[in-house]
Amino acid sequence: MASRSRVTAAALRPWDSAVRPPMLAPMNDAPPEPKPCHHDGCVLPAQAGRDDCVLHEPRRGKTRTELLAAFRLLDEANVIRIRDLDLRDADLSGIFLGLKNLQHSDLSGANFDNARMTKVGFDFSTLDGAHFENAILEKVDLRRVVSMRRCHWYEAIFDGVQVPAMERVGLATPYDSGAKGANPKRASYVFRHFKELYKSAGDHDTSGLFYEREMDMRRIHGPISERIWWWMLSLTCGYGERPMRTVWLFFVIIFGFATLYLGCDVKAPEGQVRDFPTSLYFSIITFTSLGYGDILPVSTTARLLAGCEAVLGVFSISLFVFVFCRRMVR
Ligand SMILES: [Zn+2]
Repeated sequence: MASRSRVTAAALRPWDSAVRPPMLAPMNDAPPEPKPCHHDGCVLPAQAGRDDCVLHEPRRGKTRTELLAAFRLLDEANVIRIRDLDLRDADLSGIFLGLKNLQHSDLSGANFDNARMTKVGFDFSTLDGAHFENAILEKVDLRRVVSMRRCHWYEAIFDGVQVPAMERVGLATPYDSGAKGANPKRASYVFRHFKELYKSAGDHDTSGLFYEREMDMRRIHGPISERIWWWMLSLTCGYGERPMRTVWLFFVIIFGFATLYLGCDVKAPEGQVRDFPTSLYFSIITFTSLGYGDILPVSTTARLLAGCEAVLGVFSISLFVFVFCRRMVR
């Protein structure tokens, strides 16, 4: 009786090696369960010996391999919004990002070359100096980006991209400075596309500013004959964007010729014109092609000057009407 009760007690003690089933024996060799990342709401595992995952670790220049693995895990967990990422100078080239919002993150200098993004947002994130060359951006929402200055946008394809206020984009590209990599053709590409993006967003004033920058690049890039033409257009009307420049042109021509007439033989009924107000009056009626006939240019020089002013007047007034209407109708 005593012996039977001893066996029963041994069978009920699983920690006794004599009766422990072999399948439960060596548990010490199993790898430890990885800790979760300590960032609030992050589903990724912490890295070995750290409290944070690879996306949250404060470190520059993360490699493509480690980032692709992390984003794959996010996809598997169906994570859409993730915040406070440190992706400074990170290599995300060729990545596919779909239905993600990387919020409050630092992506300065990140490399998205050849990447494809669909329905991606960067709310309250920084993208300064990021690379998007040959990237495809579909329905990417950049409206709440904190700053995205001097990004490399050459040959990026924009489809339904929404842009932030112009101050957060800036009117400079890495291609239009005198630094290494300067390339007016590439800068022209970027300005042309941002002109279209702001135009489709209904912001015609900003679109006009990018148009001016595009024309500036064309002026620098083009042959010498075209450069003179573009320079004249820039000076007289800001490539059709600045009607006030044309108004200033009126004043310069009218006052300039009024001064020149004082040194020529211009005759009024009361004698040769010697005072500036009369000379100014003659300049205005010549500029506007009114031609009352009360004051006449007598010498060849005066006639030549009057002819030039009349031609410049017709040209300037036509230019003003064109620039003014162009801005009004859009
Ligand atoms: Zn994390």
